[in-house]
Amino acid sequence: MSSQDNFVNINIYQPNKNETMREICLYCYHNPKSHSFKKIKEEVNLNNIGIVSYYTKVADAALYYDTKSIIAHYRNELNRLGNKRWIWIFDGEGFSLKHALNISLAKQLAKLITDDFNERLDNIIIRNPNFFTNMLLKSLWLFLDKKLKNKIIYE
Ligand SMILES: [Zn+2]
Repeated sequence: MSSQDNFVNINIYQPNKNETMREICLYCYHNPKSHSFKKIKEEVNLNNIGIVSYYTKVADAALYYDTKSIIAHYRNELNRLGNKRWIWIFDGEGFSLKHALNISLAKQLAKLITDDFNERLDNIIIRNPNFFTNMLLKSLWLFLDKKLKNKIIYE
């Protein structure tokens, strides 16, 4: 690896190496590409309520298979919402069979959201759906809370 490569890596990794990420997820603190659940936008609606948008692209997550650390990351991040509402953008680009097969993770994530964060969730926006995102959603459908299902939209 040349010194130029090192320089590029520092530029990519530095912005996420902050104390907030240390509290949310130690895996992502040390390597921001461990999981994929990033706060990308925060705005205020007409009623002056904050709305936070999160972005997930599973294909970019190195630890896509590590259910326990993924659930912990989501819980810690969403616990910081306070009274704000949230939107989850789920990008299916690159989502493949190995991702779709982890039904257990998808179920646990659905349970976490349903039990603790559904009231403040506005929408789950599915971007770039493909065969495998549809396959996962189909296997999950029976287990999903009705209120949660109604929030799923396609971009
Ligand atoms: Zn993480």
